[in-house]
Amino acid sequence: MRDKTTVIIGGGVTGLFTAYFLVKKGVEVTVIDDGTIPGLHSCSSGNAGMIVPSHFLPLANPDTLKEGLRGSFTPGSAFGIHWSVNSDLLRWLAGYLRNSFSRVIPAKTETLAALHLESRDLFQLVQSADIPDLSLDLTGLVMVSSTRKSFDREKRSADQSIRLGIPAEVWSPDTFRSLNAHIDARLTGAVFYPLDGKVDPVTMLLSLVNWLKANGVTIIENCPVTGWKTDDHQIIAAKSDDREFIADDFLICAGDRSGLITKLLGCEIPLQPGKGISFDSPNSGPILSHPTLLQDHHVAITPYEKYTRFAGDFLLGNRNNRVTQERLTRIRQSTHQVFPGLTVNQPFAETSWSGFRPVSPDGMPIIGRSKKWSNLLTGTGHAMMGISLGPVSGSILSDLVMGIPVKPDYERFLAPSRFGNSF
Ligand SMILES: Cc1cc2nc3c(=O)[nH]c(=O)nc-3n(C[C@H](O)[C@H](O)[C@H](O)COP(=O)(O)OP(=O)(O)OC[C@H]3O[C@@H](n4cnc5c(N)ncnc54)[C@H](O)[C@@H]3O)c2cc1C
Repeated sequence: MRDKTTVIIGGGVTGLFTAYFLVKKGVEVTVIDDGTIPGLHSCSSGNAGMIVPSHFLPLANPDTLKEGLRGSFTPGSAFGIHWSVNSDLLRWLAGYLRNSFSRVIPAKTETLAALHLESRDLFQLVQSADIPDLSLDLTGLVMVSSTRKSFDREKRSADQSIRLGIPAEVWSPDTFRSLNAHIDARLTGAVFYPLDGKVDPVTMLLSLVNWLKANGVTIIENCPVTGWKTDDHQIIAAKSDDREFIADDFLICAGDRSGLITKLLGCEIPLQPGKGISFDSPNSGPILSHPTLLQDHHVAITPYEKYTRFAGDFLLGNRNNRVTQERLTRIRQSTHQVFPGLTVNQPFAETSWSGFRPVSPDGMPIIGRSKKWSNLLTGTGHAMMGISLGPVSGSILSDLVMGIPVKPDYERFLAPSRFGNSF
C-alpha cells in the first residue's frame, strides 16, 4: 500500500516517464489513455525519435517567426499556419509574436539547454538502472545545410551551442562524405552534435509500459476522460462515462489536447497542435551514419537497423490527421535533392503517420501545478522536443507531486502561471 495516489491522463512519452519517476518515489500510479498504450495515434509514436540537446533555442524567436510567416503564405510549404477563424489560435499567435521578441530569450535558451542535458543524463540512468531495452543511441546527430545562408546560420548556432556547454563540430562536405562514403551527398556543409542521438519511439514506449506494469502501475486503455468530479478547490475524480478514477493528484499529460480537458475545470492551457507526418522506408542500400536534419528542407531522417524514418511538416492550428500524397512526395524529393543515391521507397498516404505536437506560445514546455485546483498538475507543450525532454519532464512532475522544490529557472520558465492565472 503506497501513501499517495495519482492519476495520469495521457500515456504518451510525458505521461509514461512521469509514471516511472512517481513509482521510483513510492507513489501509486494509474495511467489512463483514450487509445492504446503505447498507441500509434499518439504524437509519441511516429515521430523522428531524435534526442536533441542541439535544440536549445525556444521556438518563439525572430528567425522561426519569420520563416513561419513566409511558409504560411507559400502553398505546400513545410512550415506554416492553417488559418481559420478561431479565437484560441489568434490569441496564441499574439502570444507567440510577443514572445518571439522577448528580452528573456537568452535565459530561456540556457534553461532549455539545461533541461536537455539533464534529460539526456536521465535517459542513461533509466536505461542502466531499470530499462536496458530503451533503444537509446547517443552517438550524435548531423544538421546538413544545402545553402551558404543556412550553413552560416548553423555555424553561428554551433558557436552558441559550445558557449552553452553543448559541443558542436562544423563539418566540411568532405568530412560528411568520409562517414557516408557510399552515399552521394550534395551539401554546403554540416554541423555535428555529438551529444545528440536517437531512440526508436515505439520500442522505448513499449519497454517503459512493460516496466510500469511489472512495477504495479495500473494501465487503462481506450478510456477517454470526459469530465471531473470536484469539491471546492480539490478534484475528487476524473470521469469517463460512468467510471470514476479517484486519486490525491491528477496529472494532465494529454499532449496537444491537454487544454481541452482542463477547460472543463475552467483552466486554460494555451496550446496549438503542430501537425507533422512521417513514413518508414525499409533499408535496402547504404544508410546514413547518424540521424540527420536537412535544414533547408525541414526534413528529419532517422536511420534504424531495419528501416529509415523520414519526418517533416510543421502545420500549426490543424487537427486534421489526413496525410496527403503531395506532402509525402515533398519529403521524398527533398531527400533526393540532398542524397540522390539514398533509397527511399515511394510512401503511401494510407501507411504513413501524422501526429500533433503540443506547441506553447513561448516555445517552452508547460510543467507545473494549477493555481485554481490544488491537486491538478500538467506536463505538456513540448512541441518538437517531447521525446528528448521526456525523462526530465517526468522527473520534474514527480518532484512537484512530492512537494520537492524544482530549480528556480525551471519554475520561472515552465510553470503554467507564466500565462497568468488561467490554469
Ligand atoms: C513528425 C514529428 C516528428 C517529431 N520528432 C521528434 C523528435 O525527433 N524528437 C523529439 O524530442 N520530439 C519529436 N517530436 C515531438 C514529440 O513527438 C512530442 O513532443 C511528444 O510526443 C509529445 O508527447 P506527449 O506525451 O506530451 O503527448 P502525446 O504523445 O500526444 O500523448 C498524449 C496522450 O494523451 C491521450 N489523451 C488525449 N486526450 C485524452 C483524454 N481526454 N482522455 C484520455 N487520454 C487522452 C492521447 O490519446 C495520447 O495518447 C516530433 C513530432 C512530430 C509530429
